[in-house]
Amino acid sequence: MVKTSLNFDENAGAKLLEAAKAAMISALECSANASSVHSSGRRARGFIEAARDHVGRVVGVGKDHVIFTSGATEAAALALSPVILKGRESLPVGQLYVGATEHPCVLSGGRLADRLTIVPVDANGVVDLEALSVLLDGHDMSTGVPMLALMLANNETGVLHPVAEAARLVKDHGGFVFCDAVQAIGRLPVDINALGVDFLSISSHKIGGPQGAGALVLAREDIRPKPLLTGGGQERGYRAGTENVAAIAGFGVAAEQVMNHLEDVESVARMRDRLEAGIQRISPDVQFAGAQVARLPNTTMCVVPGIAAETAVIAFDLEGIAVSSGAACSSGKISPSHVLQAMGFPAELSSSGIRVSLPADVSDVEIEQFLTAWRSIEYRLRPNQAA
Ligand code: PLP
Repeated sequence: MVKTSLNFDENAGAKLLEAAKAAMISALECSANASSVHSSGRRARGFIEAARDHVGRVVGVGKDHVIFTSGATEAAALALSPVILKGRESLPVGQLYVGATEHPCVLSGGRLADRLTIVPVDANGVVDLEALSVLLDGHDMSTGVPMLALMLANNETGVLHPVAEAARLVKDHGGFVFCDAVQAIGRLPVDINALGVDFLSISSHKIGGPQGAGALVLAREDIRPKPLLTGGGQERGYRAGTENVAAIAGFGVAAEQVMNHLEDVESVARMRDRLEAGIQRISPDVQFAGAQVARLPNTTMCVVPGIAAETAVIAFDLEGIAVSSGAACSSGKISPSHVLQAMGFPAELSSSGIRVSLPADVSDVEIEQFLTAWRSIEYRLRPNQAA
């Protein structure tokens, strides 16, 4: 029997929206360079500018605040700039303070890797504001201004960080703030000005657009990072290189539609809570990382003692269900999740995190299907544990 396949790995990438696909096909059919002044070029430019408007609206700014990139990884690399350009001033960044549970594209520090300080999180995975405040008090302004990189919602646990409070602290110390909002867009209302951050990143493929597009959004046009890619002057000089018109067009349509999903937030949270209650009944010793604090409505990180996350992911795959391991996996080697480690989980449990991230339209039947699979995997992998 062919099993219905379930994608419970939404945080890795949402399904491409039909409307986004249609916009991409139209843009591909145009196939002109958006910098060309002839009519086909102007048509291609039209796709980009319409998308810019939609992406800006998602986070509460006008189109001129949006810089298109190849994705959120590049947006982070652009934001983590060695100097911040403020009006006519050029302010060197002395130290980058980074939340311990950031996505690797931020945690690596980018162009600021040589001046990076990790800001710890508590046992719930929430950034420690006291520790941040102490670090900022000790910041040496003679090296340059402080910069903070703090994500809005964690991709592994869904835990939300108090970005607005953290940004206020940084502003009191004359610094700048970059916020990775990739997982929050479409799941929470996000307003760059209410957050008080300077730069914010968005990824197209997390909101139903295509892979290979993203944006860095500036809160103010007069506070900018130093460009990462220079050359032909595209994206007003912030990001040179011929634009990927089709990907940007699809991204724009996804951004336009993303606000509609916000209504589904409560129902997804109810489904996630049902899922956790069902798992807990079958496997009483499972812990849900960060469950005591505010989280994304669709995400749960299940820490299952005695099961390597990779083994569980394969077992679910055989049941026709896509989930992911919290652990990063490179060259076939499982390494513990840095997020669970930062939360204080011991090494063996940090390799036992199974991330389940639900799509907005998940149904009761699908939750039951998942729980049936969980029970059978539990009996197979941990025969003495299942309740
Ligand atoms: N930040 C977070 C929180 C993510 O989850 C991801 C993707 O998994 C990224 C950044 C990187 O995004 P992109 O794939 O667009 O480079």
